[in-house]
Amino acid sequence: MTNKHTFQTRLLHNDHKFDRNTGAVSVPIQQASTFHQADFDNPGIYDYSRSGNPTRDALEETIASLEKGTHGFAFASGMAAISTAFMLLSKGDHIVISEDVYGGTFRMINDVLGRFGIEHTFVNMTDLHEVATAIKPNTKVLYIETPSNPLLNITDIQAVSKLAKANNCLTFVDNTFMTPALQQPLDLGADLVLHSATKFIAGHSDVVAGLAATNDPEIGEQLGFLQNSFGSILGAHDCWLVLRGLKTLDCRLKQSSESAHKIAEYLSAHPLIEEVYYPGFNCHPGSSTHAYQSSGAGAVLSFKLKDEAAVRTFSQHIELPVFAVSLGAVESILSYPAKMSHAAMPEPERLKRGITGGLLRLSVGLENPEDLIQDFENGLEYVKAAEQLSEVK
Ligand SMILES: *Cc1c(COP(=O)(O)O)cnc(C)c1O
Repeated sequence: MTNKHTFQTRLLHNDHKFDRNTGAVSVPIQQASTFHQADFDNPGIYDYSRSGNPTRDALEETIASLEKGTHGFAFASGMAAISTAFMLLSKGDHIVISEDVYGGTFRMINDVLGRFGIEHTFVNMTDLHEVATAIKPNTKVLYIETPSNPLLNITDIQAVSKLAKANNCLTFVDNTFMTPALQQPLDLGADLVLHSATKFIAGHSDVVAGLAATNDPEIGEQLGFLQNSFGSILGAHDCWLVLRGLKTLDCRLKQSSESAHKIAEYLSAHPLIEEVYYPGFNCHPGSSTHAYQSSGAGAVLSFKLKDEAAVRTFSQHIELPVFAVSLGAVESILSYPAKMSHAAMPEPERLKRGITGGLLRLSVGLENPEDLIQDFENGLEYVKAAEQLSEVK
């Protein structure tokens, strides 16, 4: 893929812009499990679709190139990508990981890897001193998610990667919230980038998928071996859906990020909103680090209402956002971390992390932001009325 064009253009004009055999302007879906071998001594590139499939190859080459890596991999889900990546480790190894990682990653580390003799330490990744202190002689991986979920904390990818290199560790970055359109961790020294492509990359709430990319040939080879051994590959049709979603990634994110900024400003000026978490604000503690390592604040923000009662009233009276788990779609998605993504976390643990009963997370979609703001204004009017009523009582 030629690198002379900008990211926005390369999403469309790349090695897979048309099919070499037919000229078709869409990657063909090779819905085949096995491939005819005319000569069993020379089986050709493809023999069985778990090991390799042309549609999956197209997606894997595309994500490798977009993340400026040499090897890309497509998995059945973000968790399949993340879990397979952890299989690069062996019994006795240790992971230093951000304490506010995605819930599924938390579960994998906490409830699964330990049974295989892989240890871990959760740290506040934004505190480099704490990260350095947690590194042990058997530490093999520093694991970052930035911005984090749901409070949008920012980790300095370059600083953590340097710390990792100095201690012979690898750096893994979950880049789901930013995508390569806004943040390219391999350029900042990370060794492996992971994605839930279910979110912004595919972008249409119609496919569950995971991606990985690396610029280290050795990791690439090992991960390819693990992908084939575990077999949690992405099917051909889903690969095609992700490829199609990718074409509009840049313009979707631009529009959604612009709207997110407007909505964040609106919410922060509203008297019923106690706090807005958005890395695009100068007052966000990670804003300068984020501005250095990313080219935009993204389309996710969180905000705090007074309490659960206020959240209930608000969510019952807004019309536009889908109220659901997940994020990164064409439609705005509002989610309630205390009862959704972090429901399994014990309440004291949750509150310690700032995930209170009043916290909502918003992933901004492609609606006109003025319509969204009007919808929120309306919902907040109901919250105000309910609060006045309870004061009178
Ligand atoms: C959703 C998500 C995942 C898990 O991806 P799935 O595709 O749901 O398996 C991992 N990391 C982050 C940051 C996510 O938002």
